[in-house]
Amino acid sequence: MVKRNVLLNPGPATTTDTVKQALIVPDICPREEEFVGVMQEVSKGLLKIVHADPSEYAAVLFCGSGTINMDICLNSLLPEGKKALVINNGAYSSRGAEICTYYGLDFIDLKLPIDKPADLGVIEETLKANPDVALVYTTHNETGTGLLNPIREIGALAHKYNAIFVVDTTSTYAMRPIDVNKDNIDFCMASAQKGIMAMTGLSFVIGKKSIIEASKDYPKRSYYCNLYMQYDYARAHGEMHFTPPVQVIYSARQALKEYFAEGEQAKWDRHYRVYKAIVSGLKELGFKVLIPDEIATGLVAAALYPDDSNWDFKKVHDYCYERGFTIYPGKVEKRGMFRLCSLGAIDETDIKDFFKVFGEALDKFEVSVPVKYEV
Ligand SMILES: *Cc1c(COP(=O)(O)O)cnc(C)c1O
Repeated sequence: MVKRNVLLNPGPATTTDTVKQALIVPDICPREEEFVGVMQEVSKGLLKIVHADPSEYAAVLFCGSGTINMDICLNSLLPEGKKALVINNGAYSSRGAEICTYYGLDFIDLKLPIDKPADLGVIEETLKANPDVALVYTTHNETGTGLLNPIREIGALAHKYNAIFVVDTTSTYAMRPIDVNKDNIDFCMASAQKGIMAMTGLSFVIGKKSIIEASKDYPKRSYYCNLYMQYDYARAHGEMHFTPPVQVIYSARQALKEYFAEGEQAKWDRHYRVYKAIVSGLKELGFKVLIPDEIATGLVAAALYPDDSNWDFKKVHDYCYERGFTIYPGKVEKRGMFRLCSLGAIDETDIKDFFKVFGEALDKFEVSVPVKYEV
């Protein structure tokens, strides 16, 4: 048995013992047929989670953290002479814009308020004024704040103006239900350590085969991170082009079994119940939560630091950490805040236990409760 920690940070998430144990397998060369079978099982499960028809969509697997997916989609899917439109209302969309800059892509950085769902009117105006936009990029859940973007509507606009729609679903996939058809998604993505509650090191893009195939002739901007190359190799050989994270893929297979055993709706209900417990625990102590429930994803609560000279995030963090609970710092527009997330194999009772410890920490360091704000 390994010690169980409750991770309230925005991923990696708390995993089950069975997923941890699934890492321990006999040594195997990933070129063996047995391993190719495991890869196929995992790919099938990954498509099923977002209701993607395998004849239309492919799951393309990569060795890396979630950012590799963003990098791959942006550098691989933009045709010569066309523009990307990055809908930027948070830290993760800003990362998307930064990736475009690094590759020297022609793109529009559409900066919007970070505490409001992306404005569809502004997006439509931008698309109307820029008929050379071929790719619209957005973030489903801005993990830095917990803001939810209206992806279904943005996807419909992208298609209306003949652009493909790429969504960073890293912090919603396998948690908040997604349906690639209903949600107008051409490409979405995630990594194994978030929604499916597996280990770090495996990431995947789920996308329309017809578009990946068309991208064969687009400019090649990266060698290791090219979507078509990885897709084409997997199609021909049933495996990744270069060495995969072998043991991590075995544990992902176990995590997928557990995902389907729990069920899409039951799992989302559990994450949301945990989120509600987090928000009410914070509010009881007087904390201000940045994004109201009506426009929140229901997976991340960002609480503003109180205006109290005794408040010291590190001290509170360390007190909780020593007792098995991890909380996560952050910053929005120069204001200090911390995040509590409902990812992972946790439930309401863990949140009850957490607030006991968190309350003790506030008491010990003499932070006044309810916490104070100057404005
Ligand atoms: C976690 C996350 C990523 C990937 O971050 P890594 O640190 O590279 O794993 C990308 N986008 C969103 C929205 C995320 O929450």
